[in-house]
Amino acid sequence: MSDDEGKGSGGGYRIELAKSKQAACKGPKPCKGTKIQKGELRMGVVVDFRGHSTFQWRHWGCVTPAVLSNMKKKHPEVEDLDGFEDLDDGFQAKIETAWQEGHVADEDIPDSARKGPDDTNEDEDDDKKKKTASKRKAAPRKKKARA
Ligand SMILES: [Zn+2]
Repeated sequence: MSDDEGKGSGGGYRIELAKSKQAACKGPKPCKGTKIQKGELRMGVVVDFRGHSTFQWRHWGCVTPAVLSNMKKKHPEVEDLDGFEDLDDGFQAKIETAWQEGHVADEDIPDSARKGPDDTNEDEDDDKKKKTASKRKAAPRKKKARA
């Protein structure tokens, strides 16, 4: 039974080292739009754009588990991934590992894809800045007992 893959787009994937830094990452925010630097490992999806096929690139580190899952459905054997055989052993090992684990290694996620430094300010003295100009209550704040 041949089922000709009803969906036209999302045909193929390719993985390679970026040959130039022309492509912008199509991965999720906050990395989306960041230029992929020459020599960085990147993953391309073939998309149909106004009648011709083109690639949408993203950093290898911006391949989400969902995308990786789709890639695996298309290419259960990682060796079948377009471009894979041209990569160095180190890169091949990275990709094989991701195939097995279902996500890319944390160390491969580019800085541009991270959410930035931890924002764990706990606003402890925020109440000093409350606008109390209009309604000032007479009762002073209770002070903590000092030792
Ligand atoms: Zn990216």
